[in-house]
Amino acid sequence: MMAAVAAAQAGARVILLERNEKLGKKLYITGKGRCNVTNAVPPEDFQKQVPHNPRFLFSALSALSPADLMALLTSWGCPVMVERGERVFPQSEKASDVTRAFERQMENLGVDVRLNQRVRSILTADEEGSVSLQAVLTENGERIPADAVILCTGGKSYASTGSTGDGHALLSRLGHRLLPTLPALVPLACAEPWVSALQGLSLKNVRLTLTRGKKILFTDLGEMLFTHFGISGPLVLSASSYMAGEDLRDLELTLDLKPGLTQAQLEDRLLRDIGAAGKKQLQTLLCGLYPIRLAETVPALCGLDGRKPACEISREERLALVRITKALPLPVTGTRPLGEAIITRGGLDVREVNPATMESKRIPGLYIAGELLDVDALTGGFNLHIAFSTGYVAGRSAAGAN
Ligand SMILES: Cc1cc2nc3c(=O)[nH]c(=O)nc-3n(C[C@H](O)[C@H](O)[C@H](O)COP(=O)(O)OP(=O)(O)OC[C@H]3O[C@@H](n4cnc5c(N)ncnc54)[C@H](O)[C@@H]3O)c2cc1C
Repeated sequence: MMAAVAAAQAGARVILLERNEKLGKKLYITGKGRCNVTNAVPPEDFQKQVPHNPRFLFSALSALSPADLMALLTSWGCPVMVERGERVFPQSEKASDVTRAFERQMENLGVDVRLNQRVRSILTADEEGSVSLQAVLTENGERIPADAVILCTGGKSYASTGSTGDGHALLSRLGHRLLPTLPALVPLACAEPWVSALQGLSLKNVRLTLTRGKKILFTDLGEMLFTHFGISGPLVLSASSYMAGEDLRDLELTLDLKPGLTQAQLEDRLLRDIGAAGKKQLQTLLCGLYPIRLAETVPALCGLDGRKPACEISREERLALVRITKALPLPVTGTRPLGEAIITRGGLDVREVNPATMESKRIPGLYIAGELLDVDALTGGFNLHIAFSTGYVAGRSAAGAN
């Protein structure tokens, strides 16, 4: 939609082909229906939130920064607001209002929106070794001639929204290099029974750290959730972005249940609590530190009987409790499948695309934008901004404006 608006604003005659019966099906479910459209961090901090191929975005972010997008949406009658973590949402808190703003723009600019039109192939001609774009062929057999084509078919996750990977197949047939698609921003599976026994437990203000050997790949404070299959929630999704394509046996994920206290402070706190109420069961005493279900689980993970009086634990046992509270190992066995991932890692190798125009280096006139590209970011509005800004550049370039 952004590519169509940008191309039409630059004077091109634009046809938008969408396979679904309506526009913006994925947009509709973003941000739990509130649509976290972008993130108002300064551009230099934006790229820090993009663990994969951040430099590819340099031109796109200067062509359409978060501030530019916020101004555009506001001028299109969809005012936005900035929330915690600089996350930007429409003031109405309705993702459908973002789609409506695009629909209004497209209508004003005369974009010919054709729904229920699944693109089956992109036709090219090869004359004396030089490839040129000819037309787009739809599933119902219509041949639409085109001077330029912008492909924005998304990733391969949440396929019910229309992103089934058609664009990957189209590009591959046209000789482009596609990288394996992997789930990123995805919940994690843990086989240990104690994890699934905690299902439904949500933790706030905890620190999750992912390491490979001594190297910290990810560490952050925030929220997470135990589920029937393992773990989820914002912190877990972010950590998963650093796991895609890695051998999980080399990685360690640990949870700090008391990030506000050092090991020494935590031990002092335990000693104080034991001094004040040592006759209490250990698990009852630990309820002062964390939720009751964890207070029952943590001693068991140290091989301790949580029902014994707290004053009876030895120094070693106390230190074991401190260690596990500060670094509880989360035994990840895998990621949940691609279909459940917020984002698809992989797709079109960015070396196949000119980052200043989004044009394919193989086929002049073919442009690629959005999640189909092998670029992905953490949560917070960054992924939609990647789609909007690359779509904007592709639209302008395809119309000959860049
Ligand atoms: C549950 C969920 C929540 C999310 N929340 C956020 C959030 O709050 N903030 C954020 O920044 N990101 C969020 N994301 C990620 C974000 O939605 C995507 O990165 C973004 O939508 C990608 O945009 P896109 O235009 O590349 O692809 P898509 O939005 O997937 O759009 C691709 C479109 O192409 C159409 N299409 C596919 N194949 C064909 C074909 N052959 N012919 C015609 N049309 C076709 C599809 O039907 C679809 O409409 C979320 C993702 C999910 C799954």
